Amino acid sequence: MAEFLNGLKRTEYCGRIGKKDLGNPVTLMGWVQSRRDHGGVIFIDLRDLTGIVQVVFNPDVSPEAHRIAHSLKDEYVIAVNGTVKNRPEDSINEKIPTGYFEVMVDSVKILNESDPLPFPIEDEIDAGEPIRLKYRYLDLRRGPMRERLIARHKLMQTTRAFLSGEGFFEIETPFLTRSTPEGARDYLVPSRVNPGKFYALPQSPQLFKQLLMVAGFERYFQIVKCFRDEDLRADRQPEFTQIDIELSFVEAEEVRSLTEALLVEIFDKVRGTHLPQPFPVLTYEEAMRRFGTDKPDLRIPWELSDFTDLAKEVDFKVFRSAAENGGLVKCLNARLCGSLSRKEIDDLLEEIKPYGAKGLAWIKVTENGLQSPITKFLNKGFTEELFKRTGASSGDLLLFQADTPEVVNAALSHLRNHLGKRMLPVSKDDFRPLWVVNFPLLEYDAEEKRYVAMHHPFTAPMAEDIPLLDQEPSKVRAQSYDIVLNGYEIGGGSIRNHSREVQYRMFSLLNISEEEANQKFGFLLEALNFGAPPHGGIALGLDRIAMLLSGGNSIREVIAFPKTQRAVCLLTEAPSEVSPRQLQELYLKLIPPRK
Ligand code: ASP
Repeated sequence: MAEFLNGLKRTEYCGRIGKKDLGNPVTLMGWVQSRRDHGGVIFIDLRDLTGIVQVVFNPDVSPEAHRIAHSLKDEYVIAVNGTVKNRPEDSINEKIPTGYFEVMVDSVKILNESDPLPFPIEDEIDAGEPIRLKYRYLDLRRGPMRERLIARHKLMQTTRAFLSGEGFFEIETPFLTRSTPEGARDYLVPSRVNPGKFYALPQSPQLFKQLLMVAGFERYFQIVKCFRDEDLRADRQPEFTQIDIELSFVEAEEVRSLTEALLVEIFDKVRGTHLPQPFPVLTYEEAMRRFGTDKPDLRIPWELSDFTDLAKEVDFKVFRSAAENGGLVKCLNARLCGSLSRKEIDDLLEEIKPYGAKGLAWIKVTENGLQSPITKFLNKGFTEELFKRTGASSGDLLLFQADTPEVVNAALSHLRNHLGKRMLPVSKDDFRPLWVVNFPLLEYDAEEKRYVAMHHPFTAPMAEDIPLLDQEPSKVRAQSYDIVLNGYEIGGGSIRNHSREVQYRMFSLLNISEEEANQKFGFLLEALNFGAPPHGGIALGLDRIAMLLSGGNSIREVIAFPKTQRAVCLLTEAPSEVSPRQLQELYLKLIPPRK
């Protein structure tokens, strides 16, 4: 039976019992973590938000409390009155902060009972994720989950304090709005009072934050939910949180240095880690050339080198034909991995087949020269350059890809990550941020046969590349930047088009007619006519940052109530069907999905 407190007041928290309380009466409230019955005396670990303390039921002190203690089970909610004592020498537990003390109970009140649990409330459990998500409120009682959400709270508070201190205003923007083209599908909400019309949930506050710049706010931020209807990959959620920032009268460098200072503050305040500054800055071109990816994990010191020029001269058909047909031939020097067996190298090919790799040429550098099935095809010039370009020395393993640039870069960057993490002491406590800047403005979408914006359509081209917009749009670089940490893109942004002409030009490159642009983004285009200042900003992925701060493996671990990969909430069972009446009110009819 559940009981109300009826005037009973907690005087201290379990985890804060200490020397100061010795000999004093306390009233504690919390959950029964465990019960040990030592024939006569009953010990209970009582847990609240702050931690655990041992409470003792001795029949000689209070027969009534002792009698009730017999009926206590795991996760019962109780209040106890008692006196704080030193634990006897032999029962001191140095592993917990309250381990020198215990509370001798005078009276106990059961505030609520608990059914048997689907999994134990312990730091390490075997329970699978589905059951943890269904009973998330129990999962969140576990220490590591609590720590992560508390770290997330600190992350948010630090962000607010820092940005407010820098003169930023936190301003909310609507959730019921129009489409913001961030490259995903929209979540739509039907409007009952406007039959046949829909709101879109924002993929980001991009357009509103730009309008706030036109409105003269100059420095805006918001910790905000964004909604993207995507096929979910490993670390994505249909709704996720951004630290969204926009500034006026700035260039890219200023946005970057502000963001850098914010991240340094966050890592310092939340986990006492000093991020090495300044963060390195790589152009997109350099990142792709040296690492094969725009989000290199700098904890792995291996790089790629390009052999396309020399590959045209060699007798090895795979290399030559890639080089002659507009492809690339690149090499990853996996340092000191020369001891890998033939079988282990074959397994590496399996790793990269999903990226389109068809083979994996390799060379082991040994004290007695090069060892490889392909050396016989390579000429002297190639092998000489091999040492120069890769910096190879005895013990190294050189791994090659010859294919289209996409396949070569994807396969080798995956190998770099996969093998690097396996062979090197890569630590989750080592943080190596970097900037990747000046991405291409446009990306060709082969399926749709048109250009799409690589960041989003409001990103400004680099001033010196504007003339290329007409001749070679694919060569135009953007005033854009991504912040990358340990292989994760944790944020991205750009300087925006504050010129209406350039913005229209951009839309036309994206195959969006003036008419369509006006229809979709007329309000923004119009605003650009009323003295829009130069402006730019960034959005940081709060979930990913929280995950990295707390050493987690998935953003679901740092979100209180996350959804599964299939966008389902196992706790509430959303999404769910609605009643015919609700559909009718919204003027909607369902078409059953095709089998
Ligand atoms: N709105 C962008 C995004 O969500 C970030 C930005 O450009 O500020 O990725």
